Amino acid sequence: MTPSYDALLGLSTGDSFGAQFFVPDNREHLTARQLPPGPWPWTDDTEMACSVHAALTERGEVDVFDLTHAFANHHDFDRGYGPAANRLLRLVREGGDAPALAAALFDGQGSYGNGAAMRVAPLGAAYADDPARAVGPATATAVITHTHPQAVAGAVAVAVAAAYAVRARTEPTTPEGFLGAVLALTPDGAVRRGIAEAVTLLGVADHRTAAQLLGNGRLVSAADTVPFALWAAARNLGDYPSALWETVSAGGDVDTTAAIVGGVVAAHTGAAGIPDAWLAAAEPLPDWAFPEPGGVAGPRGRAVLRPEPVAFPEVEWTSEDWQRVRTRDREPGAWYRYTREGVLHLGRDGDEVFAVLVRAVRGRFRPAAAVVETDPGRAVPADPAGELAGLLRAL
Ligand SMILES: [Mg+2]
Repeated sequence: MTPSYDALLGLSTGDSFGAQFFVPDNREHLTARQLPPGPWPWTDDTEMACSVHAALTERGEVDVFDLTHAFANHHDFDRGYGPAANRLLRLVREGGDAPALAAALFDGQGSYGNGAAMRVAPLGAAYADDPARAVGPATATAVITHTHPQAVAGAVAVAVAAAYAVRARTEPTTPEGFLGAVLALTPDGAVRRGIAEAVTLLGVADHRTAAQLLGNGRLVSAADTVPFALWAAARNLGDYPSALWETVSAGGDVDTTAAIVGGVVAAHTGAAGIPDAWLAAAEPLPDWAFPEPGGVAGPRGRAVLRPEPVAFPEVEWTSEDWQRVRTRDREPGAWYRYTREGVLHLGRDGDEVFAVLVRAVRGRFRPAAAVVETDPGRAVPADPAGELAGLLRAL
């Protein structure tokens, strides 16, 4: 299993565990440090992290346009999303312009919540070789829903922490060394100042004191959530249960603080660091978090073997239409299609027939180049340009 999987399992188990402490009857379990009775359902933190893990598994990197649609398509109102996220994801699913919607949240400030940080550990865990390389993809996935600079900084800090946590499997570190390395890659602002303060508090024995100074997620902002979560992870990097008990004992937004801590710590310990009793109580991860490499939406055709340029028609899609083209479910037996990094792939019978490069120009999407299969052993259209024109005009 990959470090991203370890981080996802740690994140979902932490999320499920933490959410149990919103249940008043479970308070006494907290005092006694006894596991609350299962099953523990996971929440929005895990649902979004599953989309991140699926996107990463499928492509080896994250395609923002496709991840946006994964968030929207898997969005389940009953998983505890905040009101702004519920509305945003519903509008995207209905064909809305995702970047414009995200930027318009909170009177145009963008969301500064902890929702970008809560889902990012599986992404960061893929960058242990060079944690600085996690900054770009963490930023790109954050702004899908959270455009405020401090929400982005929180996501960057958690992603980088997950990367360093994996690296610490082979390069032992100290809490100060670990958190200092995260600090060095965190953008300026309130989150960074909080992490700097967390470094000075690593020797503080009482999590309540640390949470008072750093915040515990009660305000659900990234700045109020990430510094404390990384403080708890840094102090307990080798001990998943201790990290999680310390985290939830501080109260606040406990599913999210526990999701962040669980993701970062399990990136270090691996799935083996999560006790069996915890895994047995936590809701299992959904199958869709584990696509075959090369196909989030199910089996895909084999790539074009002998591509030749082909004429393409003058067609144009609005942003909404293009999103519909990308997300509409494939009908069995018909032409399949999917997009990857701006290329629309069209095929049938297990083979790709056309690949069409699509470019966005002033909010409109148009074909910019196209190739057709010409290998005699594959499905080769008799009139390629005519066939492609018919297909694209029908989308
Ligand atoms: Mg949640």
